Amino acid sequence: MLNKAQVRYCLDTMGEMFPDAHCELNHSNPFELVIAVALSAQCTDVLVNKVTKDLFQKYKRPEDYISVPVEELENDIRSIGLFRNKAKNIQKLSRMLIEEYGKEVPRDRDELVKLPGVGRKTANVVVSVAYDVPAIAVDTHVERLSKRLGLCRWKDSVLDVEKTLMAKIPKDEWSVTHHRLIFFGRYHCKAQSPRCETCPLLEVCREGKKRMKRKEAN
Ligand code: SF4
Repeated sequence: MLNKAQVRYCLDTMGEMFPDAHCELNHSNPFELVIAVALSAQCTDVLVNKVTKDLFQKYKRPEDYISVPVEELENDIRSIGLFRNKAKNIQKLSRMLIEEYGKEVPRDRDELVKLPGVGRKTANVVVSVAYDVPAIAVDTHVERLSKRLGLCRWKDSVLDVEKTLMAKIPKDEWSVTHHRLIFFGRYHCKAQSPRCETCPLLEVCREGKKRMKRKEAN
């Protein structure tokens, strides 16, 4: 596991590599962000942005989503994986926002996770991106990176990863680190082909060292 100085080194290096890391899901208000993140499960941000370009023109408020038959909404998002389930959840979520939250997206993570289709990761993205509340959403990139680098243990659950990162990273850097880890995982330390040879974190990365050793042996 990385020591304090090594964690600092990783954070600073990722900051230098991706100073402008940000949420890549297009949205113009918290409600659109909730819809975009709900659509993004097992789907790329690029595809979600393609779909929400028209979707957010047609549906602006929770009322708009429940004013159409679910089949119509399914049709509007059908290029996205799990579209039937997602359409159903978006309508349920919209109804709940109207009936229980005065049409506003709650700012509290514990309230957000009560919305259909909104898990802890989505709630963390929404509070940090829409409301500037420090949070670390653990998606597939954050989990992979944290484990490869030795910020966490291989056997850690997603919740363990979140807790460990919160303990090791200063609170005022949680949200930006979440984005930087995602950019680092998306554009540098990819799942199938991490760029260890040119990685500035190689000297502290247990996975990178292992991979380089294997390469040299071959
Ligand atoms: S050394 Fe390799 S595995 Fe480690 S962070 Fe860099 S690219 Fe990823």
